[in-house]
Amino acid sequence: MEFLLLSPCYIRHMADLFDPSTEEQNIVLILEPTLRKIEKLIFGCESCSPEGAQLHFEVLLDAATGSDPASTDYILEMPAKCPMCRGDVLEATLVEFETLDD
Ligand SMILES: [Zn+2]
Repeated sequence: MEFLLLSPCYIRHMADLFDPSTEEQNIVLILEPTLRKIEKLIFGCESCSPEGAQLHFEVLLDAATGSDPASTDYILEMPAKCPMCRGDVLEATLVEFETLDD
C-alpha cells in the first residue's frame, strides 16, 4: 500500500496560509487634529487618576474611529495629552474616558 507523503515544505506552506497572525492588520495613522478631538473625551490617565483609568487609550481610539479592535493598530502623529495633568498619553496608556455608547 502506498502512502502519499507530503513534503515538509508543503506542510509549512499550508500552515502559513491558515496562520491567523499573517492576517492583514490595518494601520491607522491618527493625525494631530483627530488626537485633539479624542483627547477631550479623557477624564484622567494612569498618572493623575490611577483608580479610574482602567482602559488603554487604544480602546478609545477604536471607539472614536469605529475600527475593529482585533485587526487595527494605531500610529499617533504625536502623543495625546491628558487634559487633567497634561501628561503624555500613548496607545497603551491607561485612561478614564467618557463612553461613546448611548
Ligand atoms: Zn492625567
